[in-house]
Amino acid sequence: MSLSGKTAVITGSTSGIGLGIAHELARQGADIVLNSFSDSKEDHALASDLAKEHGVKVRYIQADMSDAEACRALISTAGACDILVNNAGIQYVAPIEEFPTAKWNAILAINLSSAFHTTAAALPLMRAKGWGRVVNIASAHGLRASEFKSAYVAAKHGIVGLSKVTALETAGKGITCNAICPGYVLTPLVEAQIPDQMKAHHMDRETVIKQVMLAKQPSREFATVEEIGGTVVFLCSAAANQITGTTISVDGGWTAE
Ligand code: NAD
Repeated sequence: MSLSGKTAVITGSTSGIGLGIAHELARQGADIVLNSFSDSKEDHALASDLAKEHGVKVRYIQADMSDAEACRALISTAGACDILVNNAGIQYVAPIEEFPTAKWNAILAINLSSAFHTTAAALPLMRAKGWGRVVNIASAHGLRASEFKSAYVAAKHGIVGLSKVTALETAGKGITCNAICPGYVLTPLVEAQIPDQMKAHHMDRETVIKQVMLAKQPSREFATVEEIGGTVVFLCSAAANQITGTTISVDGGWTAE
C-alpha cells in the first residue's frame, strides 16, 4: 500500500507512540507533520532525520495541544491533512479527593479537547478531497478504569465517544474515524518508570515488568510503537474503508477479561 501524496498530521509526535506512528506512515510514503509544544533544535532535527530515512517531506510545527486556538492553527499551518492522528497525551495519578484541579483541566484539554479542535479544523480539508482518516489514540483506559486515574480515564472514555460521533458525521463521505486502545506500550515514558518500580518492589527488571507493570495485560508483554503504527497504517488502507466509529484494542488481552 502506498500513502504517497497523503499528508499525515500527528499530534504529540516527538517521542514514543506518536513518533512510532510517524515512522510507520512515512515508511508507506506519507508526508508527515510532527508536533509538540516545544520548539527546540532537536524537534526540527527529528523532522529532517525522518525525512532522510524515508524519503518523504517532514515538517515540525510547534503547537501546544492544551490551547484550543493552537490546535486549530496546527491544521491551518499544515495546509493539508489527509490523515489526522490525535496522539498527544499526558498522565497524572492521584485519588480524586487529592487530584489537583489544574492537572484535571490539563489532562482533559490535551487528551480530549485537542482532538475536538483538530478534528473540527481538519474535516473541511478531508471533505474537500472526499477522503480522510481520523485516528484517535485512546487507551485500554478508554474502555476500562483503574483507580487514581480519574482525569485520564474520563478523557480516554471521552475520546472513544468523540470518535463515534465523528464517524457518524462523516459516514459515506470517504472519511473514517476510529480509536486505537493500546495497553501498556514500552515508550521512553514507561521505560523511565522501571528503575523506580524495581527499587520500590525489590524485584529485578523482568519480574517487576511481568508481575507489577503488566499485571492487567494477560500476554505479560508490552505492545510496541511499531505495532501501534502498523494499526494506524491498516486503518489508512482500503481494507479499512468500512471500519468506522469503533475501537481497536492493542492490549495483549487486557480488555478481554
Ligand atoms: P510520550 O510522553 O512518550 O509522548 C507524548 C507526546 O505528547 C510527546 O511528544 C510530548 O511532547 C507530547 N505532548 C505532551 N504535552 C503536549 C502538549 N501540551 N502539546 C503538544 N504535545 C504535547 O507518551 P506516549 O506513551 O507515547 O503516549 C502517547 C499517547 O498514547 C498518549 O495519548 C497516551 O495516553 C497514549 N497511550 C500510551 C500508552 C503507553 O503505555 N505508553 C498506553 C495507552 C495509551
